[in-house]
Amino acid sequence: MFCFQCEQTAGCAGCTGCAGVCGKTAETANLQDELTGALIGLARACENNKKTENTDQIIIEGLFTTITNVNFNDDTLREMIQRVNEEKHIIVPDCSVCKNPCGNTDNYDMKRIWEADEDIRSLKSLILFGIRGMSAYAYHAKMLGYTDETVNQFFYKALCVISYDFDMEHLLPVVMETGEVNLACMALLDRANTTSYGTPVPTKVSLTVEKGPFIVVSGHDLKDLELLLKQTEGKGINIYTHGEMLPAHAYPELKKYPHLKGNF
Ligand code: SF4
Repeated sequence: MFCFQCEQTAGCAGCTGCAGVCGKTAETANLQDELTGALIGLARACENNKKTENTDQIIIEGLFTTITNVNFNDDTLREMIQRVNEEKHIIVPDCSVCKNPCGNTDNYDMKRIWEADEDIRSLKSLILFGIRGMSAYAYHAKMLGYTDETVNQFFYKALCVISYDFDMEHLLPVVMETGEVNLACMALLDRANTTSYGTPVPTKVSLTVEKGPFIVVSGHDLKDLELLLKQTEGKGINIYTHGEMLPAHAYPELKKYPHLKGNF
């Protein structure tokens, strides 16, 4: 395995061997790489062929799955890889039976990036980690019914670019573009959240756990939290946020639920 996508990376250089500092096993890391390589194959299949109504969702979900610590479940990763490969087969059905394959839509071997010259590896990783982070924003916005075609298109472009034999001169502008589109994607999520749940207001959040049954919710999925709040309303079950779900308390349409009690 090779992974250096978070600040805990071994020796500030990269986690290798049997497992990473976070506990991610080599098998999981390799499956994440295989998934990323399959996403690149899918993006390249869409370069000259029409995507389906499901392709954006699969690209976004696939990228989201490979963010640090989001999903270490090997079965889920294998299922995701299969979904990506099946989607590619729908888009370019002839590639898998081609007698003279050109390789254009092949799944990509991520070792080609990890073992590349350090400048190229760094620039390509910046793009890759950038779109992984962006996919989380895009995913949550999509859950609330908001999408941005510019953002979606950039996922395909970026995935293709990291598979090209580009030099620094050609990669740097795409790194800058990753930052720009990321900002647009954050604005998209902000629009989705504030339109759905109102503009956040300063809010005091209790750290006291009250008596009785309760559920703790982590993550960033405000839609999931809203659904849970509705399902538990009037049932004597309290809800507490945890970690990065803390900002949920500030949204008027979520804070109105009296059983959203505090932060655990
Ligand atoms: S995500 Fe885990 S395996 Fe990857 S760099 Fe961080 S600590 Fe290492």
